[in-house]
Amino acid sequence: MSALKFMRPEHWARIEQHLANTRGERFAFALTKTLYDGEDGPVLEVIDIVLIDDADTQPNHDGYYLSENALDRVHNQARATGHGLVEFHNHRAAPPAFSSVDERALAEMAPYAVDLLDGTPYAAAVWAPGTIRADWWRPLPGAHVERGQFRTVTVLGEHLKVLNAPPVTDERFTRQIPLLGPEAQAAIGTLRVALVGAGGTGSHAALALAYLGFRNLVVLDDDHVETTNLNRLVTADQADLQAPKTIVARRRMRAIDPRINIRTLPGLTHSGTHPELRDVDLIIGCVDHDGPRHRLNQFSIDTRTPLLDIATGVDESAASVALGGRIALLLPGEACLTCQDELDSAEISRWAKPEQAQALDRAHGYGTGTANPSVVYLNALAVNAALAELGAWISGARTPARWLDIDLVGTMKSPGTRIGPRRTVPRDPGCVDCAHLA
Ligand SMILES: [Zn+2]
Ligand SMILES: [Zn+2]
Repeated sequence: MSALKFMRPEHWARIEQHLANTRGERFAFALTKTLYDGEDGPVLEVIDIVLIDDADTQPNHDGYYLSENALDRVHNQARATGHGLVEFHNHRAAPPAFSSVDERALAEMAPYAVDLLDGTPYAAAVWAPGTIRADWWRPLPGAHVERGQFRTVTVLGEHLKVLNAPPVTDERFTRQIPLLGPEAQAAIGTLRVALVGAGGTGSHAALALAYLGFRNLVVLDDDHVETTNLNRLVTADQADLQAPKTIVARRRMRAIDPRINIRTLPGLTHSGTHPELRDVDLIIGCVDHDGPRHRLNQFSIDTRTPLLDIATGVDESAASVALGGRIALLLPGEACLTCQDELDSAEISRWAKPEQAQALDRAHGYGTGTANPSVVYLNALAVNAALAELGAWISGARTPARWLDIDLVGTMKSPGTRIGPRRTVPRDPGCVDCAHLA
């Protein structure tokens, strides 16, 4: 599996409009950058698009063909810029599939293009109203090519679209589909999500993701269940003491829906390359320390993966106990956690130190945050508020709040729980983490 990501919604909007507004067949191309070439296939980012003029498309006895001139122009543009190519064309009827004419043309074109473009992946997609089918080709040793289907073709923007999600027809979602819509349920069933942290907040997220219908997950955590977790780790009970938190999360999620595919892995490390985070559609951060949170911020930017970051905390040093949380839905290319001055640089640098130095820090009272006070209803509130915004984003029902603050204390005059959107600062053009994204 693999992914094709439209980072600019207008790129997809223009391709779709081009393909939809014709009685015959039309062609369009996307120029791509390879973000990751993994075991399961490539992860590609759309950099630019080319719409093919009708004058360059000719009907033939068995279909429509692109003129040699137009093909040369597109190939030369890709070669000159070092990009890969995705070819799009339209069919009239859904579900879209490559016809035998398409297959004959692609059997020739794909190996030719892979070779011409110096081994960058080639891809082709058929559009039909409402959905697409998209496949990729990449070189194998010995002048062969490998072919696969994209797991997801996503459009990131105010609304997250998954263009190739197969419909979900499962009775268990009967009460939910009227709220989210069939397209959102299909998207949820297709998206691959990395849940980083399976502790206090992560355990709530794990259960809710399973109930919502997410079926493709990677769960990362190092920790084992301890007695002091049992006040809030909703995936575990007394009998799970000493079991890895990832394993208890997986067991509960599979008990909710046995079809869920879950890969469990150790937690984030400072220097780890974490290939498992490079081919996902969404990262959900449920970590309790700014070291890994900063790393997730970087991963989100580098892999062009949206990050839903959930932070909860108790500040006992405040004049009155501060109890609350913060949620951020971050899209690469927009203001990141560092732009928002949201991260504690002392905490980040402590996490970057070797384990021995970290132990020394702990001995001197600079903890890693794992022993912070925590309570089940704070975690539940934060996670569910975050998932409500995620639901709004995937369904398109309304604009999601990108930043939410949760305050469980209120003021002297007006005590009580408040959840409200935060006024954020614009992206910092000099940000050390995201300035390199144009
Ligand atoms: Zn076709
Ligand atoms: Zn930034």
